Amino acid sequence: MRIPVSMPILNSNEKKYVNECLDTTWISSNGKFIAEFEKRFAEFTGYKHAIATSNGTVALHLILLALGLKPGDEVITPTLSYIATANSITYTGAKTVFIDSEENTCNIDVNQIEKLITKKTKAILPVHLYGHSADLDPILKLAKKYNLYVIEDAAEAIGTYYKGKHVGGFGQAGMFSFFGNKTLTTGEGGMIVTDNDELAAQMRLLKGQGMDPKRRYWHPIVGYNYRMTNIQAAIGLAQIENIEWRLKRRQEVAEWYYELLKPLTKYIELPTIAKYTNHSFWMFNILLKDNVKISRDELMNKLGEEGIETRPIFYPMHTMPPYFENKKYLIAEKLSAKGISIPTHSGLTKEEVEYVVEKLSIILQ
Ligand SMILES: *Cc1c(COP(=O)(O)O)cnc(C)c1O
Repeated sequence: MRIPVSMPILNSNEKKYVNECLDTTWISSNGKFIAEFEKRFAEFTGYKHAIATSNGTVALHLILLALGLKPGDEVITPTLSYIATANSITYTGAKTVFIDSEENTCNIDVNQIEKLITKKTKAILPVHLYGHSADLDPILKLAKKYNLYVIEDAAEAIGTYYKGKHVGGFGQAGMFSFFGNKTLTTGEGGMIVTDNDELAAQMRLLKGQGMDPKRRYWHPIVGYNYRMTNIQAAIGLAQIENIEWRLKRRQEVAEWYYELLKPLTKYIELPTIAKYTNHSFWMFNILLKDNVKISRDELMNKLGEEGIETRPIFYPMHTMPPYFENKKYLIAEKLSAKGISIPTHSGLTKEEVEYVVEKLSIILQ
């Protein structure tokens, strides 16, 4: 058996729609699939605007640019995230101000935000890590009190709701990623959601080289080429057509893991789900307890020898050269050292999940 930690599942109309792009020659960033995908995405998430981009990183950059982030500004964000979160802040010249995570949810520790707010703080950028929502209400309250923007990195969180509303647009705007290992994929791709008309217009302007929408080849500002192609959107449209199935399959896989891994909770911690959210399980993570003799990396190697691919929890960004801080963020560091993501995707069968658990059980006991 060989079980990848994640994989693109292309079981909808992907081929049909992509072939339509090829047959009609609409392969670039014009074509009907882009608007259709945006429309379906806006409907699914419940936001007024959905703006497609070439990947998730530039989607985040675009939001920050449109909000006017610049050198001298500070953005508060968790140190435990994928590097794109910090990089998009850095592209604007603004400074990342890192914050530790809470142990249960792996997300931004909202109790530590207020003391980090300075005169330079412009935004709080929570990440809904691994498909579990950050606790948004306390963040929105602080943002109101100090007049800050809230931007959600929902790259991993399609299908995640906070108190019944889909994540992404609680603040000014948020974004999703459609990289190959994400719940919905277009190969590379991203999407911004917002309810703010003015901000949406500004982001569309910036995304298309700053071209005046009423005057072709007239560019009043320096823009970017952050456009999605019609081929990407064709895949995305097919994928969002069966998004409910994708999410349901992940719930099923997670339920199997919870059930089958119960006897191993002497050795590992299973993901907790806060009351204010569901968990869309972009990744199912397990955390090695202190009594476990084998190291996290040894465990991953042993699983690898059995054909089971896993991945370590992200390295906290403050531990990597571009963002290095000689400072401890204890929870993020612990999660990173002890956590692994086990195979989680919409195509997993019960047999495969049982195989993963069986091997884990043999190695851990
Ligand atoms: C995937 C991801 C992104 C965006 O990544 P792209 O590969 O550029 O689409 C941003 N933030 C997080 C937390 C991610 O997981």
